[in-house]
Amino acid sequence: MARDSRYDILFEPVRIGPVTAPNRFYQTPHAAGLGWQRPKAGAALRGIKAEGGWGVVCTEYCSIHPTSDDSPYGFLTLWDDDDVAALAQTADAIHAHGSLAGIELWHGGSHASNRMTRMPGIAPSAIPAMYHLPTTARGMDLADIKAFRGWQRDAAIRAKRAGFDIVYVYAGHDYLPFQFLSPRHNQRADAYGGSLANRVRLLREMIEDTKDAVGDSCAVAVRLAVDELHGPQGITSDGEGREIVAMLAELPDLWDVNVAGSLGNDSKSARFSAEGYQEPQVAFVKQLTTKPVVSVGRFTSPDVMVSQIRRGIQDFIGAARPSIADPFLPTKIREGREDEIRECIGCNICRAANNEGVHLRCTQNPTIAEEWRRGWHPEKIASFPRREKVLVVGAGPAGLEAALSLGRRGLDVTLADRNGKLGGRILNESTLPGLSTWIRVRDWRQHMISKLNNVQVFPGSEMTAEDIAGFGAEHVVLATGSAWRRDGVGVNGMDVLDLPGALTPDDVFAGAALSGAIVIYDDEHYFMGGALAEKLARGGHKVTLVTPNASVSSWTAMTDELGFLQTRLHDLGLAMHTGRLLRGRGKGHVKLACSASGSESELACDTLIVATGRLPHDGLYHELTATPQAFTLHRVGDCLQPSSIADAVYSAHRFAREFGEAPVAVLRRERPPVKDIA
Ligand code: SF4
Repeated sequence: MARDSRYDILFEPVRIGPVTAPNRFYQTPHAAGLGWQRPKAGAALRGIKAEGGWGVVCTEYCSIHPTSDDSPYGFLTLWDDDDVAALAQTADAIHAHGSLAGIELWHGGSHASNRMTRMPGIAPSAIPAMYHLPTTARGMDLADIKAFRGWQRDAAIRAKRAGFDIVYVYAGHDYLPFQFLSPRHNQRADAYGGSLANRVRLLREMIEDTKDAVGDSCAVAVRLAVDELHGPQGITSDGEGREIVAMLAELPDLWDVNVAGSLGNDSKSARFSAEGYQEPQVAFVKQLTTKPVVSVGRFTSPDVMVSQIRRGIQDFIGAARPSIADPFLPTKIREGREDEIRECIGCNICRAANNEGVHLRCTQNPTIAEEWRRGWHPEKIASFPRREKVLVVGAGPAGLEAALSLGRRGLDVTLADRNGKLGGRILNESTLPGLSTWIRVRDWRQHMISKLNNVQVFPGSEMTAEDIAGFGAEHVVLATGSAWRRDGVGVNGMDVLDLPGALTPDDVFAGAALSGAIVIYDDEHYFMGGALAEKLARGGHKVTLVTPNASVSSWTAMTDELGFLQTRLHDLGLAMHTGRLLRGRGKGHVKLACSASGSESELACDTLIVATGRLPHDGLYHELTATPQAFTLHRVGDCLQPSSIADAVYSAHRFAREFGEAPVAVLRRERPPVKDIA
């Protein structure tokens, strides 16, 4: 298909200092959790982005010295020549598709844990470590600053030798250069502290040093948080953020700007931000510099992208999450296939992977970070050698993914769901406050399935075991989902409770009557308890949220949402009881016990909703396995293991990839050859 001419502007080359980007699609640095331990996997991931059309592809954060160690999280290193050889694989993989390779040189200062290297942490001043460690970073003296400038310079030279085209000076996300800028962190009284000119001194010197070291052939980019969203006590886009850009306007070759102090501000989920949410804070930058500017904002709409360029907000379309959800987003626009873009849903499961210290995962794109380990490509899947019939039962996230991926392999697929609408659990979950984008999980798959002649879809078709046995498929895949349990068994409370009349989230979505004082008991700790509480409170109900954990929806700390959620629930005036286990239910009340002491209390309750865990809908599976069948039988998604939507999609995708293939006994891993292990 021909490209829509309205999008031509997105494919213009842009000069960045001594190098030229082939188009305006710029994958900004983002964590992948692969780090220095998995260079081949990192290279393959970035190579796929370049293959997908991103004109600039950057690495994740790359430590310039052992005093900046982010263990146990995945981070790169450029400490020695071995690192050069390892990272050259990434630069080569990006160059193989004609894109520019960028590297984000990083020093965390008091934000680095140094758990692996056990080097003393350093910071502009002696300030408590930011990484929840009971320790204080050492204030840097002038010799430390001189050494630090040398580390940046040496790392830049190594980056150039590894083949990178864009080398970063990284002054964002609360890391060391930003700590010098921020009066909250910088309490120095010398030439590097006090006035803004003094606090900017180190950043200026880093840019000059880096340009001097590699600027003849590499562009030098500055990543700066122009607003840390701390109000007048912090850097603000109408205060010192603006002044910093004005002072250094023409010095770097590119400005990569965002609203981070903390990472959570920069990667806000869709629950708390809309596409383009950083524009109010970053829009001023282009007015102060002639150098190209890039920023992010979870851009997935080509029209919004064009608007960003035409209105002079930025020169590139910066993206981390949209490039994870669809590494081929630029190619799809270029080829007039924008309807096929697998849009990021803003769920931040990718951030959870980073916060858990494991490699990247994505709800929409099950292939991310599996490019090397499993050999998965987001746009290619091996054909199945024979044309056989598969019946997929259940059209939630797993069923849709299974039907699509098996269909792409060339099998004759029938997808049946008892509901009149496809989507399964997403139909309900996407009605919760801020989660409407989650319906994209269904929409993209339903749309892509509609393009396949070999996949037939039958909504409103309940299948019994007898129906399935008589259908005549050679293979049956059950994706029948799960149901919330009503017995109170959860992460903390393992006892089966007698809870007469208790409702589950499924009952609420099905329209159960709610009256009087509502208690939502959350012992699952992800989004459901908090989101349901918000929905009901907004609907005028009197709601109390109870959880045995120290905070409500505590697992949302992994998705960088917890702080925003707590603020929202407090603003709603929602009553919250933390550290309380559910023990039982009496007339007009629930019985609670303190998680620590066990001391008991009662809380008024007319309607009890328990969100504690889910059980698989696996009745059909057990019925069908009770007698020999003429078909092969498989389970995917929640009916195999109730979990996140991301896990359901991954489960089904993996099944479809491996269906009919030799079993994968051991995952491909990176480690030194055994001969090198003394
Ligand atoms: Fe987007 Fe969610 Fe994928 Fe992250 S995990 S890239 S937020 S869809």
